Amino acid sequence: MSDLAEQAAGPTPRPVVLITGAAQGIGAGMAGVFAGAGYRVAIADLEGLAAEAAAASLGPEHAGFGLDVADETVVRETVFAVERRFGRIDAVVNNAGIGDSHLPTLEQDFAAFRKVLDVHLAGSYLVAREAGRGMIARGAGSIVNVSSIAGLTGMPRRNAYSAAKAGIVAMTEALACEWAARGVRVNAIAPGYVETALVAKLIGAGRIDRDRMVSRVPMGRLGRPEEIGQAALFLCSPRAGFITGSCLSVDGGWAAFNDAGPAWQPER
Ligand code: NAD
Repeated sequence: MSDLAEQAAGPTPRPVVLITGAAQGIGAGMAGVFAGAGYRVAIADLEGLAAEAAAASLGPEHAGFGLDVADETVVRETVFAVERRFGRIDAVVNNAGIGDSHLPTLEQDFAAFRKVLDVHLAGSYLVAREAGRGMIARGAGSIVNVSSIAGLTGMPRRNAYSAAKAGIVAMTEALACEWAARGVRVNAIAPGYVETALVAKLIGAGRIDRDRMVSRVPMGRLGRPEEIGQAALFLCSPRAGFITGSCLSVDGGWAAFNDAGPAWQPER
């Protein structure tokens, strides 16, 4: 395009990302990273007011939406509302999630098992499907689904969470292959242990053991929400233009480690 034509076309509009479950935790960290990179961010969360507050903290060009990712009608309406507010959706990060019960399997409740699958797996499917409509119509878009180290190897008692996160990797591959020729890239990230405010609180209350978690991580520390955000931002960017169907580990080496004993010790 010539300089004159570029001036006539005006500035390229800032890209729009929809991040689910971004009122707090990893999603909130991601939202900050995308906003810092020039995206307009739609924060969608079960906690609608918290989503609006998180968006407002980023600036007036961002917006918060109440959303239950497991509710098909609500997902359709929310994607429509985001498109109406911003004109389009260039990128989606399916981040919303809930924890497993951590009970022994014989004591687990089937309704709770189903709920975890509904939020993580069905939720990612629904948001990808609805946002994918506009992306396919425009022939461009990028979707990042948040899996976990729990989706790659076995974690006792986390049946539903692990199954949902492994399912997300498989669904990412299926969608990536279906939409590759339509200009829409679909990838996953598999975070390791990430230190969110919630995790810090649990550590502080002695409910989870930081030293035990850290000893399993070759890099000897927990991840930061912004580091997960940087990986998602990369996958959404043109620099990842030939990457689709991948699952990127963002875990300080967790998934690469397969030796006996701790992966990291302070004196090493
Ligand atoms: P978090 O609990 O701090 O935040 C999750 C957010 O999702 C909350 O704001 C919550 O309101 C929202 N949410 C829950 N159910 C929802 C629903 N039905 N619809 C819309 N929003 C909903 O959790 P986090 O630690 O930030 O985790 C974010 C994602 O990263 C999850 O998918 C989680 O499984 C994954 N993950 C986390 C870690 C970790 O160490 N924290 C590691 C690997 C993967």
